[in-house]
Amino acid sequence: MKSAIFFCLVLALVGLGYVLANPPGKTSSTPNAVAAPQPMAPGAKPATVAVHVFNREGKLVGPVDSPKVEMSAADWRKQLSPEAFDVLRNQGTERAFSGTYVDTKDDGVYCCAGCGLPLFSSDAKFHSGTGWPSFYQPIVKGNVTEVVDPDGSRTEIHCPRCGGHLGHVFNDGPKPTGLRYCLDSVALKFTPRDKTASLADPAADKPHESAPAAKQSDAKQSKMKKTTSTAVFAAGCFWATEAAFDQIKGVIHVESGYSGGAKETANYPAVCTGTTGHAESVQITYDPSQVSYDQLLDVFFVAHDPTELDRQGNDTGPQYRSAIFYANDEQKHAAEAKIKELTQAHVFPDPIVTAVEPVKSFFAAEGYHQNYVHNHPDEAYIQSVSIPKVEHVRQKYPELLKKSE
Ligand SMILES: [Zn+2]
Repeated sequence: MKSAIFFCLVLALVGLGYVLANPPGKTSSTPNAVAAPQPMAPGAKPATVAVHVFNREGKLVGPVDSPKVEMSAADWRKQLSPEAFDVLRNQGTERAFSGTYVDTKDDGVYCCAGCGLPLFSSDAKFHSGTGWPSFYQPIVKGNVTEVVDPDGSRTEIHCPRCGGHLGHVFNDGPKPTGLRYCLDSVALKFTPRDKTASLADPAADKPHESAPAAKQSDAKQSKMKKTTSTAVFAAGCFWATEAAFDQIKGVIHVESGYSGGAKETANYPAVCTGTTGHAESVQITYDPSQVSYDQLLDVFFVAHDPTELDRQGNDTGPQYRSAIFYANDEQKHAAEAKIKELTQAHVFPDPIVTAVEPVKSFFAAEGYHQNYVHNHPDEAYIQSVSIPKVEHVRQKYPELLKKSE
């Protein structure tokens, strides 16, 4: 990154001269035109962009402030193949069916071939038949930017960090977004899922807005290693359940995953069939000196409707069942006592159908399911289904919320 900063300083001086000689206006559209580097005032800090990046554990984190990658066309040419330069820096499009990633199905992530920013996950890749790699959503909101073509007919997609042109986005995609991100293979670089730690970005180590909390929770985690407990609950779609518990004081970490089935089928496509025995679940690591299992049970029973059998609203199937996966007799008795108490108090108009089962195993879900509500706050499902559940918990138990919440 140091070299990029150096380039920025050089470009700032060059750019200043350029601006003086050429009044601001549209860049020329000659075949080899590339976006003119943004002139920067001498001494100014390099511009940054808020994006998600991989950390050393191979986990997508953010948003973090990452310096924009700004280079001259000559330097981009040195770094990129002629084909990649044409697409990324010159708004070109590769020939249909010519790219290497058109119909790849490998599990992993696709990063910007210019600057390495994570852009798309194979989880959202689909066969479009167009001859270009197609995805229905970016890996995370904010890591792909949209720019309407000058004539307003199409929407280009760009890398927000290096400004590289990636392809276009259309409104004829599949569910759940209805969008089709049409990519050029040469603009992408694939990394298998188990190698994402190799994509560790320095920006992930730098302090950023949410770092103090994360650090605190890390420190807490090591300090409390011997004094933390875990609880596993299933309450419908784990996106909302995770967010509902994440806001509770004493909760150190919430992992979305699958419980109640075998390891071999503990993946989203298989679990979605409803035949694997898994329930979408969350594993909560908490500090029992700050929040009790009994209080977590209270949150559990307002974060979903425990009277719905094998469904939550429109999410139907046993994978959305209501279940408490107990780790020991103490949790089992607490769960049974809580159900009895709520039943006797007629808190719900219908009988509670929550299953109380021993936790045999818990398998963490795919990375893109973690922090889903936080990362996709604008999605229609999150707005209409998940956030109301999170809000319901906030209203019902304000005293249990983390102070910063
Ligand atoms: Zn990029």
